[in-house]
Amino acid sequence: MTTQLTAKYRPQKFSEVIGQEYIKKILSRAAQEDRVAHVYLFSGTRGVGKTTVARILAKAVNCEDAPVSEPCNNCTHCKSITKGNFPDVIEIDGASHTGVDNVRKLREDVFLPPISGRYKVIIIDEAHMLSKAAFNALLKTLEEPPKHCIFIFATTEPERFPITIVSRSQHYVFNSLSQYQIQQHLEYVLNQEGIKFESQAVQLIARRADGSVRDAMSLLAQVLALSDGELLEVEVRQILGLVGDELFQKLFELIAKQDLVEIHKTVEYLREQGLDLGFFLREFALYWRNLFLLAKLRGEANKILNWDETRLKIWLNMVQQFSLARIHASWQIVLEGQRSILKNIDPVLSLELLLFNLACLAELVNVEDDINSITPSKKKQSEPVTIASGEKKNVFSQPIIQKFEKEKSKIKNFKDELKKQPLIKGLMDEFGAMLLHVKQK
Ligand SMILES: [Zn+2]
Repeated sequence: MTTQLTAKYRPQKFSEVIGQEYIKKILSRAAQEDRVAHVYLFSGTRGVGKTTVARILAKAVNCEDAPVSEPCNNCTHCKSITKGNFPDVIEIDGASHTGVDNVRKLREDVFLPPISGRYKVIIIDEAHMLSKAAFNALLKTLEEPPKHCIFIFATTEPERFPITIVSRSQHYVFNSLSQYQIQQHLEYVLNQEGIKFESQAVQLIARRADGSVRDAMSLLAQVLALSDGELLEVEVRQILGLVGDELFQKLFELIAKQDLVEIHKTVEYLREQGLDLGFFLREFALYWRNLFLLAKLRGEANKILNWDETRLKIWLNMVQQFSLARIHASWQIVLEGQRSILKNIDPVLSLELLLFNLACLAELVNVEDDINSITPSKKKQSEPVTIASGEKKNVFSQPIIQKFEKEKSKIKNFKDELKKQPLIKGLMDEFGAMLLHVKQK
């Protein structure tokens, strides 16, 4: 099903490719005017259409009607390229053909004129995986490529490409697709297939695909294979192992209540469910953003959120438990924490720390408020006295000093844990500086 659906809706013309407007325009015109470059470099994240565009270009220059702006997709050449058995279009997977021997063989091949088509097109996918020796062997050919030859390198990591090759190529950077673009495409496919769907379900797949139309299509196929002829949000969550709105509601309640025990249990539950942590964190950040919108705009926020009445009501109630400042800080902390959590040796434990931090955030902010309230006003009340060294110092009452010490050690413990949260770290540093300042006077 996955391959069927993906293959069925793989774009066969420049105009069918999602996004990448200017790249399509330039390549289509080059094919039409028969002014194609001999070396192309297509870079961009996975699943954004690099190889698809390379194949379309290969067809456009070899179509029996060529030069054309779009391949006809009906002639023998076009059909054969689509099937992948046209002798003059050679696709190489850089990941499995890294060696210099493969390249030597290729170098001999490219000097032979095309067998059936007008151009020999060599598409090298994951080209950054080629070995250094392989690149060097290619370089000579790329310096003066035969007139009948077009090289197309596709890569997700252009920075790993030798500069000598980049400088000899026309480099096109493919953009990640927006969630909206992917959503539109999925809805088009579902309508074509005559499958009913909930738009929340489509949005979820589009979000999860994270800019890659290929991922979106394979996720869609995966869900359709297991669902009952209709695409429902609840099923998408179930099949893709995603956490639902109810669990986020619970989590936010627990954070508001500072219920660390239940937070711990929830984290353990997530661990047992084997959830997709990266996606969970993206969703979690999105929830804070939604909460921010609700706090600022109340019901008006639904113009952006498009939630049903019940869900809107639940979250409008939820938002009352958090101050705007706290929501804003939490949103930022989650956004900034994502990467470090995923890189951690035990990401789930790291997630637990993040959740504990969010739960205790209010307390930390209150700590700062306490200090603010006792520093400027009470400092003035205390008498400056002369001590042995002759310096003048303010003397605090014992309880205040005790309070400082207590808070200081509390902060120290937190500080170690919170190093990965830049915002909190900033707050702590500021607080530490303030303490020092007060003590020195
Ligand atoms: Zn054709």
